[in-house]
Amino acid sequence: MSLFPTYARYPIRLVRGKGSRLWDDQGKEYLDFMSGLAVTNLGHVPDRVRDALVRQLDRLWHVCNLFHTEGQERAARLLVENSCADAVFFCNSGAEANEAAIKLARRYHRKVLGNDRYKIITFERSFHGRTLATLTATGQDKVKDGFDPLPEGFVHVPLHDLAAVEAAVDGRTAAIMIEPVVAEGGVIPVKDEFLRALRELCDRHGLLLIFDEVQTGMGRTGKLFGYQHSGVEPDIFTLAKGLGSGFPVGAMLAREHLVPAFSPGSHASTFGGTPIAMAAVTATLETMLELDVPAKAAEAGEYLMRRLREATGDLPNVKEVRGKGLLVGIQCTHPVADAVAELHRRGLLVVTAGPEVIRLLPNLLVTREEIDEAVDKIAAVLRERVAGTVG
Ligand SMILES: *Cc1c(COP(=O)(O)O)cnc(C)c1O
Repeated sequence: MSLFPTYARYPIRLVRGKGSRLWDDQGKEYLDFMSGLAVTNLGHVPDRVRDALVRQLDRLWHVCNLFHTEGQERAARLLVENSCADAVFFCNSGAEANEAAIKLARRYHRKVLGNDRYKIITFERSFHGRTLATLTATGQDKVKDGFDPLPEGFVHVPLHDLAAVEAAVDGRTAAIMIEPVVAEGGVIPVKDEFLRALRELCDRHGLLLIFDEVQTGMGRTGKLFGYQHSGVEPDIFTLAKGLGSGFPVGAMLAREHLVPAFSPGSHASTFGGTPIAMAAVTATLETMLELDVPAKAAEAGEYLMRRLREATGDLPNVKEVRGKGLLVGIQCTHPVADAVAELHRRGLLVVTAGPEVIRLLPNLLVTREEIDEAVDKIAAVLRERVAGTVG
């Protein structure tokens, strides 16, 4: 095997996808309720994004950021017009977007405000990426194992513990960074009042509020961006996963006061915002806005969670069904890895969020029939485990 063993891969080889369906190299069909980890939010090979990519492939692939490009300007305008942000920096992944957010926050304090604040407060169980800075920001020890020394300046506090956040703020604190729904760490929606309290705390202490919307953005939670549920506007937020419908692209977005903190030469990416990536972003956003895809995700998410609660409410191995929009978790009382493997064998692709949570991430255009099909399979597998018929 000529690949690094960095992934515990499922024993499935996928070769083709369309909409909510995937097929493996044996011709077996799967209903996809993981969307490549919240990436293919419009389903596999969505026609409009596909057509835009094919058109762009015939025109221009790459020129680098020493030139103006129509694609970046159009994609940035769409993002800015539909969010609280005033400027966008394009990059290639979620970790890179968060890395840019951390750099912008530090540089804003140094260069615009002229102080020496650099520390970022993040939360236990959070996930922010795998670069050295973003894995340090991440509130899970397993991603840090063997990689020290880690960069200085990150402090972790428990979620929903305002006193702990206040106690962590000192004269060196620059920002607070949080996922509006803690996704990887167990699908835990953050309470609106906690987000409001963080905003108020940031304003009181002159700190920046950063939302990591790499997973919650792009319609996933039932609004275009997760922060729109609470009405709490961040100073900086980040996107990746669903931004290009499967074409790799990330973005760091910020409000007006932060824009002067980056000047020519202070941050860059060779591939960031290539014409092909921008074609994917623009077609994805236009589709989401024209079809009001986030509203569809909100409705489908309500239906999915209601059906799951009905179908599993009596099962002693299911503790809670929770989530926002189509970012849904089933909190079980036992490790779920083998239940997930059994669902894969029965043709339903789901993933975990920590050892005891089954995470459901269907595409945002999923139908009620597809939801019913998934719920029936999940309830059957979990019920069999109560009865002891599946190991
Ligand atoms: C996936 C994810 C990241 C990392 O994104 P990559 O594209 O894998 O670097 C960061 N933050 C959150 C919340 C994520 O879900």
